[in-house]
Amino acid sequence: MDRAPPGVLRGLRFDNRFVAELPGDPLDTVQPRQVRNACWSRVLPTPVAAPRLIAHAREVATLLGIAEVDIASPEFAKIFGGNSLHPDMQPYAACYGGHQFGNWAGQLGDGRAITLGETVNAAGERWELQLKGAGLTPYSRSADGRAVLRSSIREFLCSEAMHHLGVPSTRALCLVGTGEAVLRDMFYDGNPADEPGAVVCRVSPSFIRFGNFEIFASREDNTLLERLVDFTIARDFPHLAGDPAERRRRWFEEVCERTARMVAHWMRVGFVHGVMNTDNMSILGLTIDYGPYGWIDNFDPDWTPNTTDAGQRRYRFGQQPHIAQWNLARLGSALLDLFPSPAPLEAALERYVAVYTESQQAMTAAKFGLKSWREQDEALVAQAMRLMREAEMDMTIFYRALADMPLGHPSADLLQECFYREDLRDRNETALTGWLAQYAARVREDQEPAAVRRERMNAVNPKFVLRNYLAQQAIDAAHQGDDAPIHELLDVMRRPYDEQPGRERYAAKRPEWARKKAGCSMLSCSS
Ligand code: AMP
Ligand code: MG
Repeated sequence: MDRAPPGVLRGLRFDNRFVAELPGDPLDTVQPRQVRNACWSRVLPTPVAAPRLIAHAREVATLLGIAEVDIASPEFAKIFGGNSLHPDMQPYAACYGGHQFGNWAGQLGDGRAITLGETVNAAGERWELQLKGAGLTPYSRSADGRAVLRSSIREFLCSEAMHHLGVPSTRALCLVGTGEAVLRDMFYDGNPADEPGAVVCRVSPSFIRFGNFEIFASREDNTLLERLVDFTIARDFPHLAGDPAERRRRWFEEVCERTARMVAHWMRVGFVHGVMNTDNMSILGLTIDYGPYGWIDNFDPDWTPNTTDAGQRRYRFGQQPHIAQWNLARLGSALLDLFPSPAPLEAALERYVAVYTESQQAMTAAKFGLKSWREQDEALVAQAMRLMREAEMDMTIFYRALADMPLGHPSADLLQECFYREDLRDRNETALTGWLAQYAARVREDQEPAAVRRERMNAVNPKFVLRNYLAQQAIDAAHQGDDAPIHELLDVMRRPYDEQPGRERYAAKRPEWARKKAGCSMLSCSS
């Protein structure tokens, strides 16, 4: 492993508090094992055959203080492919556990993620740099520590798309091809195949998950649990004041509030995470771990892109708010011993419901262009959801079309683009026309100029989302050696609420060929 000359990434300053302030594993091999009495294990990225920079997000580079000339240097791809290190990096893999699909799964940990270090930028913001797919760690269990190009493209693009949509998310600095093959059985059907490998550099103020706390509670290690809680509050929630007990109470409450707001945003933009296990829940309320996620095309609260969850559909779109609360309850149980009684934890979980409800109502009002939410609007909105679902209307196109609806003479004809099936459109047309008349009447009560309503709607209803088939097209092109569609898609997703003339194709509904195609409507956890 090279240590890069200090000239490269010269703008970066590291302080690496996680490893400086929390206990680490004394062993430094990648032998799979249960790691006790430690929050992390020292580990180096495993070098790859031919690191090649495929894409980077210039906004994230700017955030970190990385100059364009550094990005263009061969040293950059070497560092972010795992072949070289900045002298101040102290790479590690974190120990965490998690509830997976409703069951306690024991120790999981960073099996293929390796944090390189924590940087502090000129504005004093902390940004942790983490490689995903960088090789074996003590938490890799029986897997290979690697990631395939297709899932890395999906994580890279979606992290940035979510950020630009205004959804709290971890970010992505860059995507590096490894020049190595990775063997995957994409559908777990006994047909493994070699696929190109890649490494994404994820960026977040913190990668601490609910599962980082759960693992110590499960081992009844209250000493380490308490240390991690106090570290997290000091490093990631420095604004919290009061005595230590009050700070912990406020902290858990804030985790509940942030999670509620994050999920309300998911519901607003039609994002389905796909694997809401507690090891995939960020303590900062950021969307984290982009695996078999998906975007709603035709509105269907029961839809999940994750084939691994096809039977139970635990993580379906409409269930996400409930699952987030369940996950918070698991975190609350893990923290129980640190509180004098369960009451403050229960109160915070109630706060989740209140903040979610509040956010969801404000968001729904804005999506429909209403000045503010009224109790009576519930029926009108419920009927719209029913129609969107029964008539299989495209969620994203529906809200944008509704913003343009003339209130004097609303017409279902103006929603033509939303439909996937003519028969369902015809069957629902009368009901839809009736609903539009009611809707127009309700909006007229607000007595606002049409432009004001339209602007409010278009600020929360994106025109462009990272539709599953769009990401798949970029993946197919990359497999043919053409990276341009990745750059183009990243650029489209920079301004998801703008019209972007000439780029209408990226706002089009899912084409028929993509309805059942792998990667477009169905994804497995194999990545
Ligand atoms: P996920 O469902 O992707 O959140 O992963 C669950 C756990 O499996 C985490 O501990 C991951 O680090 C680990 N994991 C997933 N894929 C791999 C892989 N290819 N190599 C090593 N560990 C992995
Ligand atoms: Mg994960």
